[in-house]
Amino acid sequence: MEPRDIDGDLTEILISEEQIHTRLAEMSRQIEADYAGKDLLLVGVLKGAVMVMADLARELHHPISMDWMAVSSYGSGTTSSGVVRILKDLDTDLTGRHVLIVEDIIDSGLTLSWLLANLNSRGPTSVEICALLRKPDAARVEINVKYAGFDIPNQFVVGYGLDYDEKYRNLRSVGVLAPHVYAPTGG
Ligand code: 5GP
Repeated sequence: MEPRDIDGDLTEILISEEQIHTRLAEMSRQIEADYAGKDLLLVGVLKGAVMVMADLARELHHPISMDWMAVSSYGSGTTSSGVVRILKDLDTDLTGRHVLIVEDIIDSGLTLSWLLANLNSRGPTSVEICALLRKPDAARVEINVKYAGFDIPNQFVVGYGLDYDEKYRNLRSVGVLAPHVYAPTGG
């Protein structure tokens, strides 16, 4: 028993560790087939994509490189412009590269559509998207997610890289956070 049982902070496990790994294996077979004979650059979006990136990369029987970006959306309001600031840029020149963006979750899709345009402006041969989770609102944005793991309901989820206040990223499954965690009652 851990000193503090963080699994107890979930009301429900949405996707188990086993389901994640089965799905990542399926997605990897598809990626291997699609990029046969081509070098691939995986671009992970920090910090949430760390787990997906690590497991997907190890599942792929394919030559890959990895690089990372950190971005933050301006303000807390949702603006259709989706203005994003780069906190950490890539070290890699994208000219002539096949790029696969690796994301944990797509919600509104605003961050990702900005990222897609940004990476596409750097002269890559191709840019595609791989996301473990996708929420219903993502369907409103014109983004082609070539490799999507799971469609999930419009609930706030944590685990497997996803945080609440920087916690829960180390959970092995994806679950719904219990209300008492983010709306604690007094006393
Ligand atoms: P978008 O621009 O697609 O609305 O924002 C995507 C980002 O919002 C994700 O990379 C993630 O950081 C955050 N996000 C969206 N939904 C959730 C969720 O259910 N749980 C957590 N932990 N983060 C989320």
